[in-house]
Amino acid sequence: MGLFIISNRLPMKVSKLENDFNYERSEGGLTTGLGSLEDYQDKHWIGWPGMFSDDDQDKKQIKTDLAAEKLHPVFLSEDQILNYYEGYSNSMIWPLCHYFYTYIQYETKFWDSYQEVNQLFCDEAVKLIKPGDMVWIQDYQLMLLPAMLREKIEGISIGYFHHIPFPSYELFRVLPERAEILKGLMGADLIGFHTHDYMRHFISAAYRVLGLDSDLDEIHYGDRVVHVDAFPMGINYDLHYNAILDQTVLKKANEFRKNFGNHKLVLSVDRLDYSKGIIHRLKGFAQFLENNPEYRGKVSLVMVVVPSRDSVDRYADLKTKIDEMIGSLNGLYSTLNWSPIYYFYRGFPFEELMALYHIANFALVTPVRDGMNLVAKEYVAVKRDEPGMLILSEMAGAAAELRQAIIINPNNIDEIEEALLEALKMPGEEKKMRMEKMRKTLSKQTVNKWAYDFTTELGTIKGINTLLQNKKIGVDSLKQIQKLYRKAKKRLIILDYDGTLVPIVKNPEMAIPDKKLIETLNLLASDKRNNLVISSGRDTEFLDKWFSELNINLAAEHGAFFKEHGKWQENVRTKFPDDDELLEILQKATDKTPGSRIEMKKTSIVWHYRNCDKWLAELRQQQLVNALMNPCVRLNLQIMRGNKVIEVKTVGVDKGVEATRLMGTDNYDFVMAMGDDITDEDMFHAMPPEAITIKVGSISDHARFSLTQLKTVEFLNSLISEK
Ligand code: UDP
Repeated sequence: MGLFIISNRLPMKVSKLENDFNYERSEGGLTTGLGSLEDYQDKHWIGWPGMFSDDDQDKKQIKTDLAAEKLHPVFLSEDQILNYYEGYSNSMIWPLCHYFYTYIQYETKFWDSYQEVNQLFCDEAVKLIKPGDMVWIQDYQLMLLPAMLREKIEGISIGYFHHIPFPSYELFRVLPERAEILKGLMGADLIGFHTHDYMRHFISAAYRVLGLDSDLDEIHYGDRVVHVDAFPMGINYDLHYNAILDQTVLKKANEFRKNFGNHKLVLSVDRLDYSKGIIHRLKGFAQFLENNPEYRGKVSLVMVVVPSRDSVDRYADLKTKIDEMIGSLNGLYSTLNWSPIYYFYRGFPFEELMALYHIANFALVTPVRDGMNLVAKEYVAVKRDEPGMLILSEMAGAAAELRQAIIINPNNIDEIEEALLEALKMPGEEKKMRMEKMRKTLSKQTVNKWAYDFTTELGTIKGINTLLQNKKIGVDSLKQIQKLYRKAKKRLIILDYDGTLVPIVKNPEMAIPDKKLIETLNLLASDKRNNLVISSGRDTEFLDKWFSELNINLAAEHGAFFKEHGKWQENVRTKFPDDDELLEILQKATDKTPGSRIEMKKTSIVWHYRNCDKWLAELRQQQLVNALMNPCVRLNLQIMRGNKVIEVKTVGVDKGVEATRLMGTDNYDFVMAMGDDITDEDMFHAMPPEAITIKVGSISDHARFSLTQLKTVEFLNSLISEK
């Protein structure tokens, strides 16, 4: 089985020399993590090689050279990089996901190009990927790709990891293409985020935008289940922890320390980006110096800002603002032998960056939004046993793990000042203890573990999905069922109604049988060998209204009543109690939950919440079940959860009891039951292992087969037909 990583960029930068090409590997955290996946011998990477070319000969050459390394280039034009990458990805998705939605720049051509480039990636991938392979798509530039690939290649498992925050629905809804983007992502089997919060936001967006239901971390999408989980990305721990053992790093650290003098150093390292909270940090540091003059001349901020996207206006403006603030602060406070801020607007080589981390007394990490923030993690690891302290914004994904840091809200400038004072005054022992605890977390949650955890979970899901796919009624299983059906002399066929014979609709009164269904049922019933039963949660009146003309048997209210030879009979003799407390509780829940309603049946009361806000309904149904507990014990009633319903009913009867009764009515050599709801599980459970049990719409442990609702009538017809 091959593993295919697909990301915007290949981990290799290609540039053209006079007569040849230069290939330069980029060793980011992602490359290390993915490189560590030793279980996969056949590892490939698909991405943009970082250069433009119009020359087919050049492209061919690059393709051949890279193929030797199992790297596969997707060539993009300057226009595509401008519109898909700089445009849709970085001027639309990036500000939106970082809560800077007023920074969004929208142009129709951005979206056109985003779709076009995702398609180009898909076309390239399709040439290489085979059924059975595993695909792991990286990040927000390729959110349409999972669905594109799912459509093109059957039997592959697709993972997607979102490296940036996923915003709250209130923000996400702003996106004009929100539905298309979500549908694109839903092509994946597993969608990963850095934190549980991002995961929660995603599940909420899928529900609110696409109306998709979920069970905890699983979203139901057609006849598939999409898993969502949090995988916090770590660092290459050993590399960072051992950095200072390298003589070059140690030499640099000593040199830097000498040059900076004896004062305490507060370090910050980030790319130039409005999400990094650089202005907040400068304001906080300025306030700290203003309010605490005793620290002037003793504490400096070493600020590394790595140039990024500075041709874009927003970034250029930010750079100007940073330059101005630093200029005025240094102008105000500098002395001949001390500067408040040492500012570096450039990237540092790895050894120098490690040396800076090592000598810094504190790291000040203040993003206003950050998917993870690796700098915070690297600082903690590189400090080793030296007492240091991390001041970390609660808006960084890393804050979910690095709980022993001094956590701040970067929008509160007072908090930045207080955090600096707290760090400066913190006893050495406490600093050591807190750093040690954080190091322990980091040493376990490494980037290798992140990659391993994600791919392992994707593999497990693939196993589950294969099992699920195998339960789906396909050509072979249909033949097998048809054979058994035709051979049988006496058949019992029990069919659930809502969600099985007709689709679930918002208003249950509208769920009426169409002509095709009635014809099919008539045909089935006309065969003397068949005992055809519709077993439903509906009341006797509803079933009579639609099926009394047909020569079939019925069971109503989950088996409380059954109709044979045209006559209704009771499975239970107890009457449902007329109890004020019970009614009051149900009425209160209904009043407080817009869209909910009560249905009174002879043997039960049902509280329906299909048409309610999901969040509110979840809260209310929990409250309702708690409130119903006491009266139900008192009245000897049972509480049953169904599909968007809570049902209070008399004990001792369910669809399983009715199925058992039915099986005893004759000597059946073919027993089949179809149903979609939790209440149908009782029926499946009651049947012998050789029975044809079919879960409609999803998969059940107790049912041997599964089928989508859209295909149920067709399936029933295929039993009757002689072909
Ligand atoms: N980094 C670097 N050279 C520098 C400054 C930073 O290679 O001069 C690296 C740093 O070690 C870290 C990454 O850039 O691994 C920044 O990752 P982070 O998650 O903090 O921020 P991002 O830029 O991904 O938003």
